[in-house]
Amino acid sequence: MPEPGDGIAALRTELAALHRMLVDSGLVVWTAGNVSARAGDDAFLIKPSGVPYEHLTPDSMVLCDLEGKPADGEQLKPSSDVFAHAYVYRHRPDVGGVVHTHSTYATAWAARGEPVPCVLTAMADEFGGEIPVGPFALIGGDEIGRGIVETLDGHRSPAVLMRNHGVFTIGADARAAVKAAVMCEDVARTVHLSRQLGEPQPMDAADIDRLYDRYQNAYGQ
Ligand SMILES: [Zn+2]
Repeated sequence: MPEPGDGIAALRTELAALHRMLVDSGLVVWTAGNVSARAGDDAFLIKPSGVPYEHLTPDSMVLCDLEGKPADGEQLKPSSDVFAHAYVYRHRPDVGGVVHTHSTYATAWAARGEPVPCVLTAMADEFGGEIPVGPFALIGGDEIGRGIVETLDGHRSPAVLMRNHGVFTIGADARAAVKAAVMCEDVARTVHLSRQLGEPQPMDAADIDRLYDRYQNAYGQ
């Protein structure tokens, strides 16, 4: 992971690698989906609009201000989701990375407008409860960003299913947001498959709390 002193070049390299991770994890097709990373107090880097994943390089990432306006000297247009990302960065100072995908299983839940219920220990670990559904919103203004921020307010989940659209995830940095996007698709798939064979068994809220607390605070090296 880039450290603050490494500067923007390291962050560009990291962001290009994280986009490859979306492809490798099977979360995106064609040019859909994007990752952004906060760059200092008043800017973020984001994928360019309409560039195929195999052509993305560190230099093609677009530096924007927190209104979504590209910095002087940027050659490419930012992703058309830039205003949603910008809204999240303006309203959530704790967020350092945002990811958007139309990953298949999670987006199938979004199409039905149904939250993914917390019925797996892996969901309790990462999401601390259900993965909620946000409102239907058209691309291009603040509507999607507002829907993300308002829906995630009051949820421990770093992922939201925007109705009829797809997944947005947040994280302390871009890598954490990518991890949430990978885990979101994984649990959406498992719970979907479970549903085909019957009704998933609910989990006790106190157990979800304990699992979440342990995973967030004690798990790992
Ligand atoms: Zn989308």
